[in-house]
Amino acid sequence: GQRDQAPGTIFDKIVAKEIPATIVKEDRHILAFKDINPLAPAHVLVIPKDRNGLTNLRKASAEHRDILGRLLVAGGEIANDSGLGFGDGARFVINDGPDGGQEVYHLHLHVIGGQKLGSMC
Ligand code: 5GP
Repeated sequence: GQRDQAPGTIFDKIVAKEIPATIVKEDRHILAFKDINPLAPAHVLVIPKDRNGLTNLRKASAEHRDILGRLLVAGGEIANDSGLGFGDGARFVINDGPDGGQEVYHLHLHVIGGQKLGSMC
């Protein structure tokens, strides 16, 4: 596939355990950890360990189908975990690009909940 020439982000350091994060789920492919600046009582980020070109969702192609499925399945499992503060439902968000409010260019799924959420933006 397309080469990933973008520089690494802070999330690579979290994957490498070079900087601390509160990890809530991990397997060979994905890592999930609490957002450092939570927007709601429960706020978890799910990332592919290997970015593999996925700086953002608009870079996704057929080669990413497996990891994208894994991100969503992990997100759903996390939102089912009342121990993390989630209630009956959550919001799943992917910010993409400057207009989408993206800050970290390593694809990540936000799982936000623990309260009744209002409007989108
Ligand atoms: P974006 O706007 O790119 O979708 O969201 C990036 C998210 O990463 C933000 O919600 C921000 O709080 C979170 N974040 C940025 N740096 C760190 C960090 O070093 N540790 C953790 N746990 N979250 C971070």
